[in-house]
Amino acid sequence: MLDLTNERTAWDRDHFFHPSTHMGTHARGETPTRVMAGGEGVRIRDVTGKESIDAFAGLYCVNVGYGRHKIADAIAAQAKDLAYYHAYVGHGTDASIRLAKMIIDRAPQGMSRVYFGLSGSDANETNIKLIWYYNNILGRPEKKKIISRWRGYHGSGVMTGSLTGLHFFHNAFDLPRAPILHTEAPYYFRREDRSMSEDQFSQLCADRLEELILAEGQDTVAAFIGEPILGTGGIVPPPSGYWQKIQAVLKKYDVLLVADEVVTGFGRLGTMFGCDHYAIKPDLITIAKGLTSAYAPLSGVIVSDRVWQILIQGSDQLGAIGHGWTYSAHPICAAAGVANLELIDEMQLVNNAGSVGAYFRESLASAVGGHKHVGDVRGDGMLAAVEFVEDKDDRTFFDPSNKIGPQVAAALLERGVIGRAMPQGDILGFAPPLCLSREEADIVVAATVEAVKAVLG
Ligand code: PLP
Repeated sequence: MLDLTNERTAWDRDHFFHPSTHMGTHARGETPTRVMAGGEGVRIRDVTGKESIDAFAGLYCVNVGYGRHKIADAIAAQAKDLAYYHAYVGHGTDASIRLAKMIIDRAPQGMSRVYFGLSGSDANETNIKLIWYYNNILGRPEKKKIISRWRGYHGSGVMTGSLTGLHFFHNAFDLPRAPILHTEAPYYFRREDRSMSEDQFSQLCADRLEELILAEGQDTVAAFIGEPILGTGGIVPPPSGYWQKIQAVLKKYDVLLVADEVVTGFGRLGTMFGCDHYAIKPDLITIAKGLTSAYAPLSGVIVSDRVWQILIQGSDQLGAIGHGWTYSAHPICAAAGVANLELIDEMQLVNNAGSVGAYFRESLASAVGGHKHVGDVRGDGMLAAVEFVEDKDDRTFFDPSNKIGPQVAAALLERGVIGRAMPQGDILGFAPPLCLSREEADIVVAATVEAVKAVLG
């Protein structure tokens, strides 16, 4: 076991530039660090031997749970046989070809090809380039703007950070950049006019989208991107009728639809894809996280036949597509993907996400929903959130400086459960591994009740 000496802590503070971390407090040693060492199923252990139930599956990605030897063995076997060869100019490995076929077999209707990357962010960069290329090949060079939603999360690169609609990811980075635009977040709980029904609010979202397209000029708007259910923006299921109304607007103005399924792909909502769950018919789908359950970094863009036919025309006019990463379809990651998708089937995790997910959300709602500072308990499949309010009747929120969400997450961790304080609002998020059992769900709920009580009385 790693000896966590003062020296090791000093190395961490002095040399490790951590993502999404307060740089000053970390470097000065004002915040605790945690060094993780192992895990099995939904449980994870740090170097001191302290165990927690990881009710956020890392960053909603360890979908099959920790310590699955089937995937580790597949990675090792591939590394021994052939650790790397590129996928340029038609090259591949058995693993990358098999994985592409497995993905298309599981994807919503009308999907045709998979382009592999390494992260959700780079897959969305690929999407943006493909959308621009598509419209250039169609002779529509003006049709380039991409509309995202406020509170959407699509990555933290230059363009994908621009697609992301959360201030935390824009501040002092000169983002968002043109030609990215944002429209209304489908966040019913935070609607301005509280007298609105869910359907009326969905209509308002669709109307705002249409107004934006018309104001910008329909000949300039290329695509709309959205997560089937808002994730990092607050774990917010779409209000009723939302996707139907949005898709009608997109169709009317010939705007492509990108479904960002980085969180929802491969079972999280109790269906293989979120598109199946909400009747979304996408032109492009982003996948990552659940594709390998994070045992190796791998992402992808699933391209519909409609878009593929135009891309092929592009190659016939211009030659090979000028887009590729050294590690696209990396054999070790592809082998992890194949084993992971097999394991999801063998363990029947898509069904489990639906049934235990529903049990978990219902238990959570009945356990904390009545608390005077709990304004909303929501979610879908194996995704849930508790949103805290200062006053329930007036739906007023706490001053962010009180950090209620982070305090509850810290109190939960003290009780052996990892949840996540979502970045914009006092929202405690849950996205457990899809293998969560009812007994484990009960432990998470009981710890949440205690944590809420400890912070909010
Ligand atoms: N899209 C969605 C919906 C995500 O939730 C994330 C990450 O959380 C991304 C894209 C970006 O993925 P990555 O962090 O692998 O770049």
